[in-house]
Amino acid sequence: MLVAPGVHHLKIHSRTLKPARYTNVYVIGEKEVIIIDAGYAEETDLDKLFHLLEELGKPRVLMNVISHRHKDHYNRVNSIKERAGAEVAAHREDMGPINEGLSGLYVEKMLRGGEELKADGKKIRVLHMPGHTPGMLNFYMEEEGLLFTSDNVVGFGTTWIGPPDGDMAVYLDSLRGLLSLKSTRLCPGHGPIIDNPSQKIEEIMKHRFQREDQILSLIGGGISTSQELFNKVYVKGEKIHDSLYTVARRTIEGHLMKLQKDGKVTRQEEGENSRYYVV
Ligand SMILES: [Zn+2]
Repeated sequence: MLVAPGVHHLKIHSRTLKPARYTNVYVIGEKEVIIIDAGYAEETDLDKLFHLLEELGKPRVLMNVISHRHKDHYNRVNSIKERAGAEVAAHREDMGPINEGLSGLYVEKMLRGGEELKADGKKIRVLHMPGHTPGMLNFYMEEEGLLFTSDNVVGFGTTWIGPPDGDMAVYLDSLRGLLSLKSTRLCPGHGPIIDNPSQKIEEIMKHRFQREDQILSLIGGGISTSQELFNKVYVKGEKIHDSLYTVARRTIEGHLMKLQKDGKVTRQEEGENSRYYVV
């Protein structure tokens, strides 16, 4: 599917968090291309990509840019490198874990954010937008109004932000940065393309602030451990798929870390548990 002239979207089967089963891959350009992400679950899932490259007349693949360190975004980058020779690029903060996850291959191009990549004359600005992971990269094609948000903004629900990779305060700053770009379409890492960028980003920010307020008021009401907060928020409250419990727990932790940083709660170790109290 085309999201703009010369910008192709492939929905690929990946081993991502259930209930989602797909990661989005983007191929930018036609005579020479840059690929964003490579989370294909199986070797055969690469057929979609190579079929598209075939249709385009086997363009030179300049680069395969990996948005961040989670494997559902780079699982088959080795095969793409082998078959198409693309240079593998990632942010320096996420290079270490990506290199560990790749066998016999290393990230060759280190990005910091601020670079301008070009494919077929199309300009792609590299944005360092940490929070979900420290080295999260997003990409902006200003002329086309396209913003590639990876897991920072996904097409359904909200992304998880918490330890060990995440930082809620940093994430919210990145969302503010994305909001300031005035894009017309968001191309997320999972789920459908989003045609109302500002509204979607503002909704996510609102959701995070509401969750923070909810946690703060629960702590004020005497709910003091992360497990109890999780039970109140997700088990008895908002219903989520069972497979998301671990990441929902981490997101509660992410909020607790931010609340401590903001000086709104304190943490005390009591036996096995950490208990939180409103300051
Ligand atoms: Zn991720």
